[in-house]
Amino acid sequence: MIPMVDLKQQYQSLKTEIEQGFADTFEKTSFILGPNVKGFEADAAEYLGVKHAISCASGTDALHLSLVAAGIGEGDEVITSAFTFIATAEAIRYVGAIPVYVDIRPDTYNLDPELIESAMTDKTRAILPVHLFGQPADMGAIMALADKHNLKVIEDCAQSFGADIDGKMTGGIGLAGAHSFFPSKNLGCYGDGGMITTNDDSIADTLLMLRNHGSKERYYHDVVGYNSRLDELQAVVLRAKLKHLPEYNRERRRVAHRYSAGLAGSVVTPPHEDEIGTHVYHQYTVLSEQRDAVMKKLADNDIASAIYYPVPLHQQKVFANICKDVRLPVTDQIASRCMSLPIYPELQNGQIDQIIDVIQSV
Ligand SMILES: *Cc1c(COP(=O)(O)O)cnc(C)c1O
Repeated sequence: MIPMVDLKQQYQSLKTEIEQGFADTFEKTSFILGPNVKGFEADAAEYLGVKHAISCASGTDALHLSLVAAGIGEGDEVITSAFTFIATAEAIRYVGAIPVYVDIRPDTYNLDPELIESAMTDKTRAILPVHLFGQPADMGAIMALADKHNLKVIEDCAQSFGADIDGKMTGGIGLAGAHSFFPSKNLGCYGDGGMITTNDDSIADTLLMLRNHGSKERYYHDVVGYNSRLDELQAVVLRAKLKHLPEYNRERRRVAHRYSAGLAGSVVTPPHEDEIGTHVYHQYTVLSEQRDAVMKKLADNDIASAIYYPVPLHQQKVFANICKDVRLPVTDQIASRCMSLPIYPELQNGQIDQIIDVIQSV
């Protein structure tokens, strides 16, 4: 069986370090905002080249807290993609704002900057691009539009930890970047976890309060905050893994490039790698007119595959009332043809070739 993702091999290679870190934490009993959380935040800020990295309880919270800190609220409109995980839009709704879905580019599956301006109204306050599947969105064009129209930009980096545009990491380009450490993400912990990155001192200051009951000094509360902290034990895992992240992302690119070379001439179209940035392949997502047949053949050969995402957000029941007139032809078309193949740093060339052979036989 070849799974979509195999977390066990990575655990085995880091077992000693992680278990030592757990044991130390149990001995010190410093469980909330302890030394590993602080250490991880410093390591992550350095790696990502940002001034502030503020951890929190999940990627969803990272988006939510970013929007609160950016002052997005009731009735504001936030331009985003409908071809993403639901959390992107949930966070917009949590602050009472309205997601305005703009279509994606057919090659990168990311927000199409050409369509953003026509979606703006006098209520538009922010743009929330998603670096989907690990490929950076066109931040040059998006930042230019944001500057022109005085909009805030929050990046959804849940799938793009370590992806860069000309050496600038995703999450350090807009006003804030929201990261997820859900176990299967490129940098994943062993439960839930998240982080916000920003170069803005005042946003950082607000976020430090928001994640910890609106408090800077214990038992003094300036704003209504949340309980949204990264767990100390999860920080142990993340510190151990972050050291290897460049290598993990390189291995993901190896897997993707081997797939793309081998799948030429098959019934699936390999993903397009845009020159604007480095794709870190959180997912390897192909398009096919014969998706069902390909997925069945893979399943028959004990190979996993999955559809990310079968139902785009504007077609979801939860948004039925706000999306009645929304038309996103590219999003609909991609959602009806996309499928993702197994990808993780430890996937071996022999396994990749086996998957390629099965697809070539369809
Ligand atoms: C995973 C994910 C999130 C949410 O992260 P959680 O840590 O699971 O809350 C948000 N946006 C995108 C695009 C994601 O893939």
